[in-house]
Amino acid sequence: MLDDDENPCPHGEQTRKHCAVCRDLPVTKRIVVHFSAGGTHYHRIHDCSALEYGQQQVDDRGGLRAEIKWAYEDLIKDTRDRCTVCFYGAE
Ligand SMILES: [Zn+2]
Ligand SMILES: [Zn+2]
Repeated sequence: MLDDDENPCPHGEQTRKHCAVCRDLPVTKRIVVHFSAGGTHYHRIHDCSALEYGQQQVDDRGGLRAEIKWAYEDLIKDTRDRCTVCFYGAE
């Protein structure tokens, strides 16, 4: 069982219990996804080949790799797209 304090809702409430929308929804398992600050997609796995490829391009330009961060998918899916490689590629 997830601790509710560790489970902020996508509407900005601290916990789902405080949110009028989420309160009544069934609790679904949240998906953790990975992304780099400079990218436009998020990834199911942190060592996705597409993510690594993007980082490689930064290397080739002599730039600094962006830090790989993580987020809950429901919080990030409105601003970024799913990576098709690691979400659909292996199926
Ligand atoms: Zn909510
Ligand atoms: Zn990916």
